[in-house]
Amino acid sequence: MTRRRITILGATGSIGQNTIDLIKRDADAYDVVALTGAGNIAQLAADARALNADVAVTANEDRLDDLRAALAGSGIAAAAGQAALTEAAARPADWVMSAIVGAAGLAPGMAALEQGATLALANKESLVCAGALILETAAKHDARLLPVERIVITASGGAFRDWPLADLPNATLAQASSHPNWDMGQRITIDSASMFNKALEVIETREYFGVSPDKIEVLVHPESMIHALVGFHDGALMAHVGPADMRHAIGYALHWPDRRALPVERLDLAAIGSLTFRAPDTDRWPALRLAREVMARGGLAGAVFNAAKETALDGFIAGHLNFTAMAEVVELVLTQMDAAGGHIDASMTLDNVAAADHLARKAARDIIAKRAG
Ligand code: NAD
Ligand code: MG
Repeated sequence: MTRRRITILGATGSIGQNTIDLIKRDADAYDVVALTGAGNIAQLAADARALNADVAVTANEDRLDDLRAALAGSGIAAAAGQAALTEAAARPADWVMSAIVGAAGLAPGMAALEQGATLALANKESLVCAGALILETAAKHDARLLPVERIVITASGGAFRDWPLADLPNATLAQASSHPNWDMGQRITIDSASMFNKALEVIETREYFGVSPDKIEVLVHPESMIHALVGFHDGALMAHVGPADMRHAIGYALHWPDRRALPVERLDLAAIGSLTFRAPDTDRWPALRLAREVMARGGLAGAVFNAAKETALDGFIAGHLNFTAMAEVVELVLTQMDAAGGHIDASMTLDNVAAADHLARKAARDIIAKRAG
């Protein structure tokens, strides 16, 4: 049997580690081409050795010597920096997991598509920033569109779904970094509490499926067992039900079009008893309102929104912004850049996306500095 050549971008993260868990269970079926990470050199090197990867790459240029040392004697090549990440993604592979967090995942993901790999796209920021480009590049691997009338994206509500609104400005980093149902990277966990994660998913859904924004709904579902619903023209709703375990989605993408047995819990619905739902509250989660504005604007507004969000999140993590100020900063950046014109209306090329991203980060940093000063 020919082995499938696999690359994992963001291998040391939550999605990356779940992907590696699945690969290790059937290691003979795969040839691992490249693994990438950032600061966690020990994990990156250990996995590269365990899976006998051709190359391991850290995003951090200043960690190249550490990575080399950790791989000494293994015969595995080491590289570092943004260009090396993209080069690794461009190495011939059959299947590439895109699980870098943030807009940093865009260029490597594009490189993987360009070399003809099937891209398993966990990095939702790619679609938010440059949906049209991604789909154009992926055209030959494109998914079929479903005759869907509405798409309902569920959200657990994150850490603060039951907090009094007045307490939200005082939420701490530790409180925002703990998710009631899912074990994920820190950034997406905080984005779940603020619902910026759901905002990204709404925009991602619009870009990927090409459905109009009014057909995309968000539903708060605290148990996180229904992951999404689609509604058909006849009024039927189909729900995807399963345990809160990302190996489900990753395994689906890894084995598609087959459905193989996966090492995930089997739900006992009788024991669970009941599932609950609530309408999302945009006073609690202004990110959901901002997502609607971004979709209405289109073009590079997604790149601006994501970059402002990443910068505001950096500000919250660093202790420069309180929790509710993140959405205020993002809204200000959107308004400023919209008023400045041009940037948001420019055509979608990777260069224009990068320029909009750069301008939005700068605008967000300026706003944050002014608020602090
Ligand atoms: P994580 O923080 O656990 O891991 C991020 C990975 O990206 C790590 O390998 C890290 O080394 C790498 N990385 C970080 N900054 C980088 C940079 N500047 N350049 C290159 N590499 C960098 O994140 P995660 O929870 O695994 O999420 C990864 C992506 O998957 C995100 O886009 C997230 O929205 C998406 N996603 C995650 C989940 C989940 O359950 N965790 C579910 C759906 C989608
Ligand atoms: Mg999700």
